[in-house]
Formats: sequence, structure tokens, C-alpha cells
Amino acid sequence: AIAPRTPLIAGNWKMNLDHLQAVAFVQKLHWTLKDAKHEDGSVEVAVFPPFTDLRTVQTLLDADKIPFALGAQDLSAHDSGAYTGEVSGAFLAKLDNRYVIIGHSERRQYHAESDEVVAAKVKAALRHGLIPVICVGETSEDLEKFGASAVPVAQLTAALAGVKADAEIVVAYEPVWAIGSGQAATPQQAQDVCATLRGVIAEKLGADAAAKTRVLYGGSVKAANIASFMREPDVDGALVGGASLVVDEFAAIIRYQK
Ligand code: PGA
Repeated sequence: AIAPRTPLIAGNWKMNLDHLQAVAFVQKLHWTLKDAKHEDGSVEVAVFPPFTDLRTVQTLLDADKIPFALGAQDLSAHDSGAYTGEVSGAFLAKLDNRYVIIGHSERRQYHAESDEVVAAKVKAALRHGLIPVICVGETSEDLEKFGASAVPVAQLTAALAGVKADAEIVVAYEPVWAIGSGQAATPQQAQDVCATLRGVIAEKLGADAAAKTRVLYGGSVKAANIASFMREPDVDGALVGGASLVVDEFAAIIRYQK
């Protein structure tokens, strides 16, 4: 078992690396991290490859006893049936996925995922024993109009509808303007919103859940800024996109020193 609020460094590969490239990448990353602190459980590392890579990466992690958690980037709100092109949480659970990203801004934007769809997917993940990594964040327009917290708070409130107090979830605050832009939020901005989101968890799921749940920051995280985020009391890890595709950079993020 993992200690409560163990820092989580999560690599969201998005639509990058086919299953052969994934094998080479995971092997190299594991090799680079030999003797790093994820080996002693003080940091949890998770990778989120495309669906077509999951079986291959699962087999590799298992065969070589590589201590990375596996996650998918999305799932269906349904469990099985006539949903062409969809992937069920049941299948992901069978493949030893521990996590599933839900409501990433790219899915909200390009696949019109509403708060209702996100909430249904969160419930689907929990039904199958997967830990949802619930992504919330404001666009630069939202930021101008409503400030940083309003949209993430509304998105998280909707996503937690019907979630039980003892459910294990992860929340990722990803300002849309910071994703892939090279323009990360400041540690103070991340702290403010992450603390506010923890308040939402307290309100919806109780104080216990709020104390236990990991709230991540995401958006242009790299080796040079990870420590500044991890020093903030309400930031429990990072969801990393671009920098999670470069072995040395991702390894350096995992090895951050506060
Ligand atoms: P980025 O992406 O690290 O490339 O900004 C983060 C994300 O979209 O999860």
C-alpha cells in the first residue's frame, strides 16, 4: 500500500509513442532511474500511454518488475456493449491499470466532453476499481473573466456528484493556458487553486478525503520548475505532458529535490 499523499509524478503521453517506442522508452526510463527514490516508495511514478500500448507496457512492467503505475488517458462511461470505438473501464482494470485520466482539457475541447460526461466517466472508473485522475482548469478567457478558481471549482464539483466519501481519486489542476505553452502557472497560483480544490473535496467528500487526496498541478512542468511546485503544501505531484516524453527530463522531474 502507498502512504497517504505520496507524491505522484504522472506522465501523460497524449497521442505519442507507439507500442514499440513505448517499450524502449519505459526501459530507458527505468534504467535511468536506478536507485532513485521511486524505488523506495517515496514518490509514485505513473505513465499514461495510448490505449494501443497498454498491453505491451503492462507486460514489460510485470516481467521486469518495474515499479511504475500504469494508467489510461480516457475510458468509456459505459461498461460494455454497442459503443463503437470506446474502451471500457473493465478492460483497463484487467490490464492492471491503476489510474485513468478523465476530463483532460483536450478531451473537453476536441471531443466536447461536458461536466456530465466527465462525472459519468468518474463513476465508471470507480465501478471498476480504477483511480480517476480528474482534470480541471480554466482557459485564459475564463481567467480574465472569472479568475483562476471559479471554473476549476465548478468542474470538480460536477465531477464529484455521486462519488462516495471513501472513493480514491486524484485531482489535477491544469490551467489550459499553461498546457504545452511553456508558460507554467506560478507556484503561488498553483497552490491557491489546489488549496481551493482541496476545499471542494472537503465539502463534497469530507475532511478525511480532503486530507488524503492528492491534488496535482499540470501545465508546462519541467525539471527546472518541479521543485518550486512540490514545495507548495497543497500540491502533491504533477501531471506532465511534453516533458514526460523525454527520458532524461522526466527522470529529472521524478528526482526533484524540494
Ligand atoms: P504539458 O501538458 O506538460 O505539455 O504542458 C500537461 C498536460 O496536458 O497534462
